[in-house]
Amino acid sequence: MDDTGGLDASRELISRDQLAARVTELAGEISADLGGQPLTIAALMTGALIFVADLVRHLPLMTRIHLAGMSSYPGPATTSQGPQVIAPIAEDLHGQNVLIVDDILDSGRTLSVAVEHIRQAGAREVHTCVLLRKPADQRAPDGLADADYVGFDIPNEFVVGYGLDHDDFYRNLPHVAVLEGV
Ligand code: 5GP
Ligand code: MG
Repeated sequence: MDDTGGLDASRELISRDQLAARVTELAGEISADLGGQPLTIAALMTGALIFVADLVRHLPLMTRIHLAGMSSYPGPATTSQGPQVIAPIAEDLHGQNVLIVDDILDSGRTLSVAVEHIRQAGAREVHTCVLLRKPADQRAPDGLADADYVGFDIPNEFVVGYGLDHDDFYRNLPHVAVLEGV
């Protein structure tokens, strides 16, 4: 069976070996900087799903994992309403050191809203980590300018795979790919 139903309609940008190597390195940077005390991971769903699962398994730290759901297009909206927290962090993060993990930094609006949400939940320290970062000229005035930890800088193209979707498909690709024809 080689019928992938369209799963192959993409051009590989970052291979699974490159992803694995960089995720291991990133985990090393994070534990060197943030180790010595328990760490709370706040993973933004659903895009960070695969990345965070790999990342945490390379963190030799006492680590809690919590999920928050974010959406830029709530309900049937066809124009962006700005990112919203659709599934808030359920726990009180009072006094905790939190690392927000997301798939990609583009305008920075999602991370900006997420940081505010995590602060409201009581976090003492908030850091941010993204697998991918688009060029700085993509950042919006009301977006977070940068993330503390970044896996890869990529060009301004629409990417899928390793958790990132198009119309909720492609998240299961083991590599990151540019989707052709969108
Ligand atoms: P920002 O709020 O920084 O503009 O965008 C961040 C969110 O937009 C990400 O969490 C991701 O869900 C989505 N996004 C931005 N660029 C891409 C892309 O190239 N591919 C996919 N699949 N999602 C993207
Ligand atoms: Mg997202």
